[in-house]
Amino acid sequence: MALIVQKYGGTSVGDPDRICNVARRVSRWHKEGHQVVVVVSAMSGETDRLIALARKVNPEPTEREMDMLLATGEQTTIALTAMALNGMGVPAVSLTGAQAGIQTDGIHTKAKIANITPKRVHEFLDAGNVVIVAGFQGESTTGNITTLGRGGSDLTAIALAAVLKASVCQIYTDVDGVYTADPRKVRNTTKIAELSYDEMLELASLGAKVMQARSVEFAKKFGVVFEVRSSFNDNEGTIIREENKSMEHVVVRGVSVQPDQAKVTIAGVPDKPGVAARIFSSLAEASLNIDMIVQNVSLAGTTDITFTINKDDLARARKVIDPVVAEVGAREYTAKDGISKLSVVGIGMRSHGGVAATMFRALSEAGVNVQMISTSEIKISVVVDQETAIQGAQAVHDAFGLESKGKPFTPNAGIAGATAPALAAT
Ligand code: ASP
Ligand code: MG
Repeated sequence: MALIVQKYGGTSVGDPDRICNVARRVSRWHKEGHQVVVVVSAMSGETDRLIALARKVNPEPTEREMDMLLATGEQTTIALTAMALNGMGVPAVSLTGAQAGIQTDGIHTKAKIANITPKRVHEFLDAGNVVIVAGFQGESTTGNITTLGRGGSDLTAIALAAVLKASVCQIYTDVDGVYTADPRKVRNTTKIAELSYDEMLELASLGAKVMQARSVEFAKKFGVVFEVRSSFNDNEGTIIREENKSMEHVVVRGVSVQPDQAKVTIAGVPDKPGVAARIFSSLAEASLNIDMIVQNVSLAGTTDITFTINKDDLARARKVIDPVVAEVGAREYTAKDGISKLSVVGIGMRSHGGVAATMFRALSEAGVNVQMISTSEIKISVVVDQETAIQGAQAVHDAFGLESKGKPFTPNAGIAGATAPALAAT
């Protein structure tokens, strides 16, 4: 008998049929004698719907009330999932985040988990129940309902797995696992069997929208091994764990494309202390998230600074930059959207050379122009024209030999799974 934490995302519980599908899957594990804790998200689209609803009554609702509202999305699914299980003759009890003992700080809409006292979870498990916990929510020390930031149900699952010392933590979603590139856009991708936390973190923050980046950080910190797999079939997924020697043999693990970026260049910036600080503190004060930053070598006492941001933030960024350009005595600035960030990720890069050369050669052979370059220990990113990004990703993907050696990717072929799944040895 094992204690298993399973998390089902919004698409997996998107309608009553899918909730019954989840219940059937959960019941198989329960019947095999395992203790199962299930974390569910709100039904797909529900959180967005609630946000839009709030805006209709008040364009600037307080964050406390936002949390109160958004938490209802998950509260709906826990009750429905428990009901579906009960209907199949499986004892199940739903718990809100607060009832499950998830205590957070008081930062509404992006609270951090401070502590978990899962007394009631244990009690209900020991009495033979499946315990269904609302993802994405907790309770502050002052007794307010809080939420953990978008995608926060992942965090609920990882944190519960850590504190319950679960033997398995499975993150069920609508894809089979993590692929070497987005299989809907790049041909011949392969599902990755095993990834390190750091690689998953890079891929998650690069827009491979499989998981909330914060929950991957949490898993790394507490050593929670987890598996990303599909709720629509019984295929094995991708295991994410601490890196090991064999992971390093693979130089590049995956390729990601982050579309909808914009590039801002401030030209003729006086090359003296404090100028960059002035520019970027103004942007930070406006809560604008800056990504890549490149400063040129200076010529005749002036330099150019280029940075990228999300396309949606460009209008706001312009408002901040206009006065700053004048204030620091820069010559002018230009802004351009319609660009993408294309990255290759792999911990093997630490010990293997030549990755940049291979990547740039592949891009040039595909006729893709590189506009900016940035690197980290396990990642190389380039900025390219959005129109050429997928073509570039395909070229890079093939150049690193990531093309599938096994079965090609097939999109979800519907709800399968009458056979009992094997317990992944994690
Ligand atoms: N329902 C929340 C969201 O849409 C949390 C989650 O799904 O993980 O962001
Ligand atoms: Mg999600």
